[in-house]
Amino acid sequence: MSSIRKFCVAIVGGGSAGIMVAARLLRARPSLRGSIAIIDPADKHYYQPLWTLVGAGVVSKEKTEREEASLIPKGATWIKESIESFFPEMNQVCTAQGEKIQYDYLVVSAGIEIGWDKIKGLPEAIGKGGVCSNYSYEHVSYTWECLRTFSGGTAIFTHPNTPIKCGGAPQKIMYLADDHMRKAKVRSHSQIIFASANASIFAVKKYADSLQNVINRKNIHTNFRWNLIEILSKKKEALFVHLDTKELHTLSYDMLHVVPPMFPPRFIRESPLADEAGWVEIDAATLQHRRYPNIFSLGDCSNLPTSKTGAAIRKQAPVLVANLLAVMDQQTLSARYDGYTSCPLVTGYNRLILAEFDYKLEPRETFPFDQAKERYSMYRVKKDLLPLLYWRAMMKGRM
Ligand SMILES: Cc1cc2nc3c(=O)[nH]c(=O)nc-3n(C[C@H](O)[C@H](O)[C@H](O)COP(=O)(O)OP(=O)(O)OC[C@H]3O[C@@H](n4cnc5c(N)ncnc54)[C@H](O)[C@@H]3O)c2cc1C
Repeated sequence: MSSIRKFCVAIVGGGSAGIMVAARLLRARPSLRGSIAIIDPADKHYYQPLWTLVGAGVVSKEKTEREEASLIPKGATWIKESIESFFPEMNQVCTAQGEKIQYDYLVVSAGIEIGWDKIKGLPEAIGKGGVCSNYSYEHVSYTWECLRTFSGGTAIFTHPNTPIKCGGAPQKIMYLADDHMRKAKVRSHSQIIFASANASIFAVKKYADSLQNVINRKNIHTNFRWNLIEILSKKKEALFVHLDTKELHTLSYDMLHVVPPMFPPRFIRESPLADEAGWVEIDAATLQHRRYPNIFSLGDCSNLPTSKTGAAIRKQAPVLVANLLAVMDQQTLSARYDGYTSCPLVTGYNRLILAEFDYKLEPRETFPFDQAKERYSMYRVKKDLLPLLYWRAMMKGRM
């Protein structure tokens, strides 16, 4: 019989959120050295926000990858296993290999599950025949191959009918595709279609207005409330359902950039930690679990009603750490998260609208100018500054 390993804090998922929390906890309370476990089976970690620029041929995909081992903060123990179940009444989690881990406090940060098989024909079609997606390290380079070799025709970009990570990413690559097609002199005999399950281009009016101008200028055709349900790759056709009228529509494509539906990870949605929709059920301000006070969550797997981004996690992590330490010290939870999130909407090879907003969908801009305007400076922030800050500061718990 295997013995139970015990830690003060167990962190399930060592991605952006899990590493930021571990690093911050260890900085705030060095006495926790040796008593924090990060449980994650992955060998590699990816800076996913750059995948938009990988798909556009600006950055190589290798630049987005690091060894997971290199990111585990000193003082934390990495358990390279996958969690299968939660036993919150017993303060235990159990790995797929059957190992039990006992904790005093638990942080759940296991990301989101991508439903590649939830679109009929997608698993067979992806990575060839013009069907691509920036949402996977394996296939992201194929987006660039599709764009580089595109010689005219119809390019379709989809947005699914579920919450997704980075709600802006399905359209960013479309604006870059338009720009590239113009440079390659194929835009005049091409059609670009945005087929989105959403009802509008963006949830925040200020940025939606600017994006609508971009769409008009670029002559992009939009089909809102259209949800991709099947790819008939032999015929190069995509089948959509209109979510309100239930009518079916078939479109022929030469290039199809797919963003699949996304879900809470299965082991979370089937656990006692989940809300009705399957996300970890936490308080939107304190990030503490609604039913288990020694459990916290953040990032893509949580039910925080804001856009799922790394930028949001950067603001969630300090709140979570402050409140977790308060629970440890039997103090009142005083840190509050206001829903801040950010979406760097790349609108071309040197232009970007930096959307920043909160739970109320009110702009929460960092810079002293109108961020709804497309700017070269903001493009450089996304391409060069943010990756640097991510690896050197955010993932080290420094900002
Ligand atoms: C194409 C694209 C563009 C994006 N653009 C932006 C952007 O411009 N700006 C921005 O801020 N964000 C962007 N994002 C979103 C951002 O990358 C995510 O929101 C962020 O990485 C989520 O962090 P996380 O820690 O919640 O999940 P992740 O970083 O995905 O980490 C989850 C971790 O949990 C682990 N895990 C999973 N299952 C288990 C298990 N059973 N047991 C243990 N561990 C497990 C995984 O191995 C993984 O390491 C983009 C994402 C994509 C894909």
